[in-house]
Amino acid sequence: MSVMRSVLLAISENRWMRERGPRLWFVKRAARKFMPGEAFDDMLRAADELRPLGIEAVFTRLGENVSDAAEASAVTRHYLEVLGAIASKGIRCEPSIKLTQLGLDLGKAEAYANLRALAERSHETGNYLWVDMEQTSYVDVTLELTRRLKAEFPGVGVCLQAYLYRTHDDLKALIDQGIGVRLVKGAYKEPPELAYPKKSDVDENFFKLAVAMLDGLGRKNGFRPVFGTHDANLIARIRAHAERAGLAARDVEVHMLYGIQRAEQGRLVKEGAVVRVLIAYGAYWFAWYMRRLAERPANVWFVVRSMFAG
Ligand SMILES: Cc1cc2nc3c(=O)[nH]c(=O)nc-3n(C[C@H](O)[C@H](O)[C@H](O)COP(=O)(O)OP(=O)(O)OC[C@H]3O[C@@H](n4cnc5c(N)ncnc54)[C@H](O)[C@@H]3O)c2cc1C
Repeated sequence: MSVMRSVLLAISENRWMRERGPRLWFVKRAARKFMPGEAFDDMLRAADELRPLGIEAVFTRLGENVSDAAEASAVTRHYLEVLGAIASKGIRCEPSIKLTQLGLDLGKAEAYANLRALAERSHETGNYLWVDMEQTSYVDVTLELTRRLKAEFPGVGVCLQAYLYRTHDDLKALIDQGIGVRLVKGAYKEPPELAYPKKSDVDENFFKLAVAMLDGLGRKNGFRPVFGTHDANLIARIRAHAERAGLAARDVEVHMLYGIQRAEQGRLVKEGAVVRVLIAYGAYWFAWYMRRLAERPANVWFVVRSMFAG
């Protein structure tokens, strides 16, 4: 892991910086590259702009490690309202949520009650619900709560991280249970005992897991494979494998983050793949934005440049 990446990830987890960083106007300005704005309407506007391009949206209200029950309830109420609002407008837009934003640090029961309420509303409105994956200490509980949810609601998926050694086994179990999987490389700082330290190993593991996911497509249990990556080479390898396996172009579903690899998104749609873009909004964007910088430390120059931009 590069020194710059480690520093940026350490900043993302630092409480003092999480509180003060968002007040820095030039950081706020640079963050706009990855989020259209802080309000829900900013997200909807961006989703509207993507639709004519054949791209649907996934949305998330930023925030994590909520340590106050009232705040976790307020986040849940917000999602319940917006799920109702998008359904009444006929917009297809899937929520993606972090369990620590729903109160997981306060207790499993608290987080599950909030999660279940969101799954119920998603189900009523014909929507799919994604659960994000956070640091390794949360993996077991995230999978446990997602499984409980799936026993009641069909349209549920969870994120798995290709940098973790354990993901191969986790994936197998999720495919068997028909729980959707959004495979990503992994965005947190993890020790070498738990995660591949070398990027080339992570990329290779991603490909192997992707092959297993496409094999799982034949099941009739509702398993939905999604590849959450901006890595054009990896996507090309996965699509080539799908073609060799006799799958249709539409069977490969790629999710990317707003503002990253726009040309590649358009190209994939033209070639028949399903593309969704995850659009983030909300006031608590600092830790999330630091992880985006860590993924591509060259992005730090956007922050520097935004200090001098007119
Ligand atoms: C839809 C979606 C949901 C995600 N959800 C989670 C989650 O729940 N848990 C989790 O741990 N991680 C999540 N991530 C983040 C993920 O783990 C990676 O950190 C991130 O996607 C970067 O890896 P990559 O696959 O794009 O490949 P990389 O090899 O890092 O990047 C490939 C290429 O993409 C471009 N690129 C990648 N990142 C950036 C960036 N920040 N800025 C500009 N260009 C960039 C560059 O051109 C780069 O060469 C999510 C990612 C996506 C797309």
